[in-house]
Amino acid sequence: MTDLPFSLELQALADANLLRQRRQVAPLVAPQSITPDDEHLRGTTYLINGQARVSFGSNDYLGLSQHPALIAAAQEAAGRYGVGATASPLVCGHSPAHEALENELAAMVGLPRALYFVAGYAANVGIVPALVGRGDAIFSDALNHACLIDGARLSRADIHVLPHGDLAALKAALQASTARRKLVLTDAVFSMDGNIANIPALLELCERYDAWLMVDDAHGFGVLGPHGEGALAHWGITGCKGVQAAWQGRLHRLIYMATLGKAAGVAGAFVAGESTLVEWLLQKARTYMFATAAPAMIAEALRASLRVIQEEGWRRDHLAALRQRLHQKISAQLGGWHLMPSDTAIQPLVIGSNADALAVMAHLDSLGVWVPAIRPPTVPQGTARLRISLSAAHTCDQVDALCHALRGASCRA
Ligand SMILES: *Cc1c(COP(=O)(O)O)cnc(C)c1O
Repeated sequence: MTDLPFSLELQALADANLLRQRRQVAPLVAPQSITPDDEHLRGTTYLINGQARVSFGSNDYLGLSQHPALIAAAQEAAGRYGVGATASPLVCGHSPAHEALENELAAMVGLPRALYFVAGYAANVGIVPALVGRGDAIFSDALNHACLIDGARLSRADIHVLPHGDLAALKAALQASTARRKLVLTDAVFSMDGNIANIPALLELCERYDAWLMVDDAHGFGVLGPHGEGALAHWGITGCKGVQAAWQGRLHRLIYMATLGKAAGVAGAFVAGESTLVEWLLQKARTYMFATAAPAMIAEALRASLRVIQEEGWRRDHLAALRQRLHQKISAQLGGWHLMPSDTAIQPLVIGSNADALAVMAHLDSLGVWVPAIRPPTVPQGTARLRISLSAAHTCDQVDALCHALRGASCRA
């Protein structure tokens, strides 16, 4: 045995500037020690490889990862349940905290039942193969997240990758398909562009061609909808009172999935839909059955998060104000760069070449502002970008500092 193949391949990655490096990241001030004067540091300011930086790189869209109520709920639950769940939910890992969380998640998104998974990746890789198999067909948007793609491959169904957001192409593909079961997969908010999928149109196509629709709302849950219920409420499909009149009786083809490590600030994911569907996933999704349940303290932190998401509506208002501020301050002034139109917390600034995107990132970094550059193959060639993610934790001053640093970088470019 020799490890030579891997070292050669690693060298090839390094030569192509494709080696990824982790940074060590920790809050500049521990959340429990933040004084009222230093509140602007909470969820925004980190030591990144030992340097203090204001971060625009996290998915902590509502600033809940360091919220005192969530920390207190986790601490209290650790004292009550201990720290480990000890087994799969189907053996003895399912606590009253998990049960309550699932009921609250279902109520929040307005669907009959929900099932909690340890991670979004695990959820998608488990759900898709439980729904379709050999001889079935999957119709997947070209910009879908990696774990939907992996779930599709694992299912062994035939996979049709469709141009991003192209409803006419989807219609033609569904019409032409003779598969026994058809499943359409889409992100609700696309993670590198920030745009929102047209879920009503997708549901109507699925109804017409007898297909299932699975929506991954990783970036919409908490952010979209009047109370943060996510993409379904954003489109008026469900609301706090359940399914809206126009969609009554029409959601049996819908599988709604969202993650809880982004706007919700904690960890894990859930799937929601008709009770029979959720019962089937509980019985058949292998990443649910064969993974140790998440600790009860995570479930309790999430229950606290759901309360904050719904009660602290100012967080969504502030996020919208920051988004407007960013657009007003920089859209006219950055030469060939452009902010993509996005109504979400994800605000991509397209730069173009890999080298320019990296240079801008380095310039911002030297000014104390951290924004990740995203390069191909994650995004198409020639569209390297800064993926600016805004958070309700950011202050106007912090966004102004970002804009100022970007103007400086555009003058140098
Ligand atoms: C982050 C993400 C996931 C994975 O969720 P985790 O809980 O981080 O495993 C799934 N889908 C989309 C669209 C995501 O952005």
